[in-house]
Amino acid sequence: MTSRAGLSLGGMGTGILSIDLDALVANWRALDALSDARVETAAVVKADGYGLGSGRVARALAGAGARTFFVAVTEEGMALRDALGPGPRIFVFSGHMPGDAERLRDLALIPLVNSVEQLTRQFEALPGHPFGIQLDSGMNRLGMEPAEWAAVREIALAQGPDLVMSHLACADEPGHAMNLRQLRAFREMTDGIGVPRSLGATGGILLGPDYHFDLTRPGIGLYGGEPFAEARPVVRLSLPVIQTREVPAGETVGYGNAWLAKNPARIATVAAGYADGLIRAMGGRATLWHGGTPCPLAGRVSMDLLTVDITALPETPDFLDILGPAQSVDALARAAGTIGYEILTALGPRYARRTGAAA
Ligand SMILES: *Cc1c(COP(=O)(O)O)cnc(C)c1O
Repeated sequence: MTSRAGLSLGGMGTGILSIDLDALVANWRALDALSDARVETAAVVKADGYGLGSGRVARALAGAGARTFFVAVTEEGMALRDALGPGPRIFVFSGHMPGDAERLRDLALIPLVNSVEQLTRQFEALPGHPFGIQLDSGMNRLGMEPAEWAAVREIALAQGPDLVMSHLACADEPGHAMNLRQLRAFREMTDGIGVPRSLGATGGILLGPDYHFDLTRPGIGLYGGEPFAEARPVVRLSLPVIQTREVPAGETVGYGNAWLAKNPARIATVAAGYADGLIRAMGGRATLWHGGTPCPLAGRVSMDLLTVDITALPETPDFLDILGPAQSVDALARAAGTIGYEILTALGPRYARRTGAAA
């Protein structure tokens, strides 16, 4: 793997998002090791590889042996095919949408058909082209319902689908009764069909072998997020300090005068804001870090800037970390009242993305 460290770093003006591809690969291997050797472990790289760059993520995983990838929409599949070249399988969760046929065919993307309407479109527009089927086992989001499936399953199975899959609604809560309900519903719809089956994403892998079937589809766990507690951290986000100032007691910082200096304070202004995915809900709640020293956000998140209380630091650092060894994606998400998935996929295009060790 050639490291691009240094090359994509244009200057010191934007945050640096370091992506540890070794940790990513280690997470894929660790998730793979949780299922039986005959179970294939795929990789979900939708939303541009959860914000980290689907091309670099997928190439690293393909290099480690991943042979099957999932994206949300055909457009993402096109970019991924460009990055991966021919060979790896690419499934599209949203299935076969109107106007997709040519691109599905030319780029050898495999739609997961979600309805009788999509199945008809697939058979009419792309007869003989590989496809899979998504079933709804209770989440009521995507996939054929049991009655719909019963009506077309003979016809669909006669065309030899590559995969039949469904998705769990509550897999991040191992004790939730919904998991077993969906497992039963999926098995009722698919036992004995003789087609490879898939039910579990990251949470489903952790629920144990009953949920693994023939192929698992981890996403968030690859990128270091919960519920895969043993995941190695994959990202570090370091934000450059643009300016510092001494703020006397009694003065305020930022929009709405939202932060008041109770004592004399030193405030650092760093280059990243809500336009970069550091959502406004972090205002007054999130913490940045210099090594092991916490530096609280002072006031609101601006579009391009954060103001940070660095009074506790003996010197002014060049960068402050908002993601890294001291603060995981999930820890930052908790401070912002959201989940790690949203923090990752919101990371904006302005950061210089560098591969190499995250820590
Ligand atoms: C996003 C998604 C996944 C991956 O889920 P994680 O929780 O990120 O592991 C798997 N399957 C489907 C259908 C999805 O939408």
